[in-house]
Amino acid sequence: MSSNIRVRFAPSPTGKLHVGGARTALFNWAYARRNGGKFLLRIEDTDEERSTAEYERAILEGLHWLGIQWDEGPDIGGPCAPYRQTERAARHKELATKLFADGWAYRCFCSAERLEALREAQSKQHLKPEYDGLCRKLAKDEVERRVAAGEKYVLRFAVPAGETRFLDHVRGDVVFQNKEVDDWVMVRSDGTPTYNFVVVCDDIDMGITHVFRGEEHLVNTPKQVLLYRAFGKPIPEFGHLPLMLGTDGKKLSKRTGDTALQDYRDKGYPKDAIVNFLCLQGWALNGTTEIFSVGELVANFDIKDVSKAGAIFDIDKFQWLAGEYIRKEPLEEFAAHCEPFVVAAGLATSAELVARRDWWLAVARGEQERVRTYGELPPRIAYLFAPDHDFAWDGEAEKNAKKHATGVETLRAYATWLDERLAAGKRPTELRDETKAWIAARGLKIPGLFQPLRCALTGQAGGPDLFEIMELLGTERVRARIRRGAERLSA
Ligand code: GLU
Repeated sequence: MSSNIRVRFAPSPTGKLHVGGARTALFNWAYARRNGGKFLLRIEDTDEERSTAEYERAILEGLHWLGIQWDEGPDIGGPCAPYRQTERAARHKELATKLFADGWAYRCFCSAERLEALREAQSKQHLKPEYDGLCRKLAKDEVERRVAAGEKYVLRFAVPAGETRFLDHVRGDVVFQNKEVDDWVMVRSDGTPTYNFVVVCDDIDMGITHVFRGEEHLVNTPKQVLLYRAFGKPIPEFGHLPLMLGTDGKKLSKRTGDTALQDYRDKGYPKDAIVNFLCLQGWALNGTTEIFSVGELVANFDIKDVSKAGAIFDIDKFQWLAGEYIRKEPLEEFAAHCEPFVVAAGLATSAELVARRDWWLAVARGEQERVRTYGELPPRIAYLFAPDHDFAWDGEAEKNAKKHATGVETLRAYATWLDERLAAGKRPTELRDETKAWIAARGLKIPGLFQPLRCALTGQAGGPDLFEIMELLGTERVRARIRRGAERLSA
């Protein structure tokens, strides 16, 4: 199915790709794919001071990583190139000149001081700060005289009287009174155009039919809709996606958690879990299914189903979801995803993991049920890579071990018992039942041995099955750790 639907994601390269931006991109992309339309990427780099090529590159890379492909964009071109806003400056200028010639814009000479004084007076009277239209009333010859005298001016949009409507698929029909809209600045005194102006110029030139973006842009939409009318162009359909809120109900910010997509990637959240979780920020597959694939998103996404209530970015739920995805991965895939984290933590090199492949897979298997992100793995398995005589014990593990009055004695006795069996060629996993019988025969409960033993072997309070751990450590290291553990506990 193909259609004339054209949507876009239009990030400003002034920072890393925000999770809210990633969601906007996903929803636009899914809408285009479901409806046989086109998805465009446009880089809005008009804030030249804050925009960098590095951020642009990172945004493109983040989108690629999420699996979002665009049909037209700055890197691949397309029929409406260029797709970088600063490269369209000549066209913006041309359109500003046209609007001015058609009487939709006027020159405003008001100084910063006058505007400041105006704002102050309005705020004293508890009025909305807005331009009072002084220069809109200037006679033509006065305007020309002041321009000829070299006075600086901005171009303001001349908001007409009346009311304006637009269709918002998330919020329903929106009506606003034009008098609520300020005669806003379209072109600054240095000749650079403002966001509200260029975004409409570009959306028109690129044939954009639907504009889906964050709710923070809702305040801009009336200005933009009036511009479409001034240009005599059809108004696109809108959809303003709900704000993402922290669990404190406030706008998501660094204070409540990471806001950059990159941060979640760096922490080792599975990519598909990120996509799934972002989709849940304002959209649901149905009332009951929380876990769904990107294919299901594309097959089912409709902007009309996006909720207007603020979406809670609940990090606990995100971690839970990430864990669910990890559980579903084939072991080899899980190990491959963890590998860069293990290498970055300095535990082993890739070559070492390759050389001990079966062992490494067994290590990964032991934790796959337990971790929620790949990044959680290295600290949990660091003990396996540490020297036997010197690895960190955590306080809780030590406390658990020391709860048992006979702990040290039990460990020493067990070491002797275990030695005989390992020397006879038994594998640790074959000694599970015998060990339990040995514990019972000494009149102990299971933790009486297991807690000191776990502390001696791993230095951690919890983790995989102890006999599996012994398999991973191997006979010599098990013997060394139990003896050393008994010493450390009795010190
Ligand atoms: N460049 C704008 C932003 O990054 C997007 C504007 C829009 O989608 O209309 O917020």
